[in-house]
Amino acid sequence: MKIAVFPGSFDPITIGHVDLVARALPLFDQIVVAVGTNTTKKYLFSLEQRLEWLHQVFDRYPQVRVEHFPNLTAHYCQRIGARYLLRGLRNGSDFDYEKTISQINHIVGGGIETVFLIAQPEMSHISSTIVREIIVGGGDASPFIPKEMHITI
Ligand code: ADP
Repeated sequence: MKIAVFPGSFDPITIGHVDLVARALPLFDQIVVAVGTNTTKKYLFSLEQRLEWLHQVFDRYPQVRVEHFPNLTAHYCQRIGARYLLRGLRNGSDFDYEKTISQINHIVGGGIETVFLIAQPEMSHISSTIVREIIVGGGDASPFIPKEMHITI
């Protein structure tokens, strides 16, 4: 069974994330959308809130599971028998960052391969960072987030 982990902060999930998972569905038997814990990051939304939104969006896909994990992504993959990581590339800075992490995960995770999908042009400007700024600034983030999400902070 081909399992891919799509790891991220999803703080919050955007339509860019959803598009990436939808496009990766034909490539894998199962995709685990997994919220990691990055000790250097401060999150706007609680883990519970982020997981609730991910369930709202992905529970309709039988091939997709929503999980969360502590510590290293590579060890999590090994624990659940996933040999692939899924990541998106929006631009050159995504590439520079992802290249190193992918090489490290390949070593730490005993051969885990990262599969990259290039963001669709109409999604490549969308990031959780921008969405957080809009929300904190009191703007309307609805063009960038799944329609089933209702944000209150
Ligand atoms: P992290 O904190 O690990 O970067 P994110 O939640 O910001 O997690 O992103 C998770 C993954 O989703 C990353 O691989 C990122 O490149 C990808 N991603 C985010 N936004 C988009 C988008 N608009 N189009 C395609 N991929 C995206």
